Amino acid sequence: MVDSKEPGRFIEEQIDIPSPPAIAIQILDTVQNEESSVNDLVRIISADPALTGKLLKVANSNFYSLQNNITSVDRAISVLGTEVIKNIALSFVITSQLSEDGESSFNIDFFWRRSITSAVAAELLKKATNLQNDAMFVTALLQDIGILLLYMSKQDEYLNILKERKNTQARLIDLEQREFNFDHQQVGFFLVSNWGLPESIALPIKYHHISSEAPPEYQRSAEILKIADLMATIYSEKEAAGKVRQLHEEMVEHFSMNSDEIETLLDEVAYESIEILETFEIDPGKIKPYSQILQKANTELGKINLSYEQVVLELKQEKDKAERFAEQLQKANSQLKKLISRDGLTGLYNHLHFQETLEKEIARSRRYGAPLSLIMLDIDFFKKINDNFGHASGDLVLKNIGRVIRGAVRSSDIVARYGGEEFAVILPETGETGLRVFAERLRRSIEKTSMEIGKEQINVTISAGGATLTPGENQVSKQMVIEAADQALYSSKRNGRNRFTMGTAPLATEN
Ligand code: GH3
Ligand code: MG
Ligand code: MG
Repeated sequence: MVDSKEPGRFIEEQIDIPSPPAIAIQILDTVQNEESSVNDLVRIISADPALTGKLLKVANSNFYSLQNNITSVDRAISVLGTEVIKNIALSFVITSQLSEDGESSFNIDFFWRRSITSAVAAELLKKATNLQNDAMFVTALLQDIGILLLYMSKQDEYLNILKERKNTQARLIDLEQREFNFDHQQVGFFLVSNWGLPESIALPIKYHHISSEAPPEYQRSAEILKIADLMATIYSEKEAAGKVRQLHEEMVEHFSMNSDEIETLLDEVAYESIEILETFEIDPGKIKPYSQILQKANTELGKINLSYEQVVLELKQEKDKAERFAEQLQKANSQLKKLISRDGLTGLYNHLHFQETLEKEIARSRRYGAPLSLIMLDIDFFKKINDNFGHASGDLVLKNIGRVIRGAVRSSDIVARYGGEEFAVILPETGETGLRVFAERLRRSIEKTSMEIGKEQINVTISAGGATLTPGENQVSKQMVIEAADQALYSSKRNGRNRFTMGTAPLATEN
């Protein structure tokens, strides 16, 4: 039989409890250690510039202080006290750790947005009710951490629980108890105790849905957590206006506040949340002050809204969205890659891609002991075409020649515009004989292609040079292969153009 009050062992067996952030341990140790001084806390926090910056921002926000001139950690401690600073620091450290912790595609921004809003609400409620509790903010921040851990460890079961809750209106903690023998309050309590956070944080979390069962000294804090959670629900969910009525009832019952006071407090929660969320580097989204929500509320009042399934369903939606986004990004990336590897005029591969591919193909040909050929070709007297017909016509000729080359190759060959009016084709698994046959066929089909330029039909010819890398030529570099083909191309030019020359360069010599 499981003791539902002390389910630690069962939680440990079933739930992945993340380890506490190292800096959180240091902060807690320092504060708990009688021998360490305020200076130790200052040193630990100051060692993390990002943390220091965030902490000073919060210390200077009108949320915490009326002064705007706190510029150092020790000044913050002397104005706000060690406890407050410690708790702000812990809040930052824990949220950032658990944000990174989720499986990489898990978007928990929504969860933290809601939790931070709840923490802001709890802090303001605490002040409004004159409760002394320096840890209120961090406690509220972590109150539903159990939901996050349950969801992360038991995704399918947890989604089923949430569905059932939606259909039956049963209490979430009852359904959790039935399924796991523990609930998210206890999971949260377990984590927080496990991390060495004090009872003043752990116990209100353990009782935040059952505040009347909490030890008397923590009852008030547990009540505040519940109300804060309700306020966060109002600000986090699309159709939460129905919750407003419940909030009014609870506020009147527990805090004897009137409608005006409630409204002012709720507005304040919105304004402060926006500021605080920014320091946590979380997009505040569309938080609208309560008074604006109220205008919409009448139409929505009466709808019963369920906070938890919405939290988790949104988590799931966010995750799906992230996955879709990653897919799109991948598509965009491959399109981008295509763009940067192509020549804009002819659509052939560009020089850069040619160089990269030749390098890879040389390595591949070595690995598999297969031959590899390269042919470089240059249009004869191309300058005349530009001179006689204009540059635009020259471009048209380049495009046409590109098309002819592409039509002549196999799908495994790589056709590139090497530069200006020079092209290159990489022919994998092609030896000298194959190269010669291909070169001659290409030369002839270019020669035979008539192009309409203005009112004239023109034909152009090319001069080409080739090189073949045969298996065993291990010393040959990419540069040497290009050089050999290029030299051969210039032999073709020298010897009368419109011809192919096979490179005989000393491919195997070192250079
Ligand atoms: P050769 O037979 O010796 O190769 O003579 P050629 O006229 O083809 O060679 P040359 O190097 O003298 O001239 C190449 C010309 O190609 C000069 C240059 O303006 C032109 N050219 C280079 N790139 C482009 C381009 O993108 N578009 C156009 N229209 N012309 C280009
Ligand atoms: Mg809860
Ligand atoms: Mg030329």
